[in-house]
Amino acid sequence: MNGELDTLIKLQEIDFLILSLKQKLEIIPLEIKNFEKKMQEIDRQFENENKKVINLEKKRKEKEIEIEDINDKIKKLKEKTSQIKTNKEYQALLKEIELVQENLKKEEENLLLILYDLDEAKKVLKEIKADIDARKREIEDNKKQLEKEIDITAQQIEELKKERKELINKLPSELYEEYIELMKKHKGLAVAQVKNSVCQGCFLHIPPQLYVEIKLNQSIYHCPQCGRFLYYKPDKKLEQAQVQTQ
Ligand SMILES: [Zn+2]
Repeated sequence: MNGELDTLIKLQEIDFLILSLKQKLEIIPLEIKNFEKKMQEIDRQFENENKKVINLEKKRKEKEIEIEDINDKIKKLKEKTSQIKTNKEYQALLKEIELVQENLKKEEENLLLILYDLDEAKKVLKEIKADIDARKREIEDNKKQLEKEIDITAQQIEELKKERKELINKLPSELYEEYIELMKKHKGLAVAQVKNSVCQGCFLHIPPQLYVEIKLNQSIYHCPQCGRFLYYKPDKKLEQAQVQTQ
């Protein structure tokens, strides 16, 4: 194969790799951010459940104080009975005590309901906590791996850049400039393979005579439509089949 063409193909391969690695470098921080967002969601979920427990604890305390107050009231009303003079007043007081006791019963039932809810909320919180710890560990591991990947990818790019420099040294500067122009014009693809007579850059059907010459890979040819450098890569399977049928 023509040495310069060979160098151009290798340069294109390296630039393609560098480009895809750079894209990877752009994507990884977004992925890390996604993991951080997930972590925050988990924290929020935990906070919500925790708030429920705290609220129920508060309600329980308030209810207990309320019940204590009612009990005090009953005690005081009962103390009053000794000071009562008439039967009428006595009946009225008994009636009042009865009403307050009914209220006490109702509030004690309410307290039981709160205690039940509190118990359930605590159970849910405990389950979530265990789940959160496992998920956080997993997210943390994924994040660390991505951070490591950033370093590895950056290093790979550096190595490819070195290789790239060596390749450029082998190319005449006009050819390299032409390559760079084509790279800019065609968004990263300056050297295209011709497959079954078709330019893989712009999908033009290459004229037969040009195709024959390109297949020799002896000189540098351009696609008549997109201007890219063209090369032919022999299909090993096809060649073998042809040898076998001959
Ligand atoms: Zn083309």
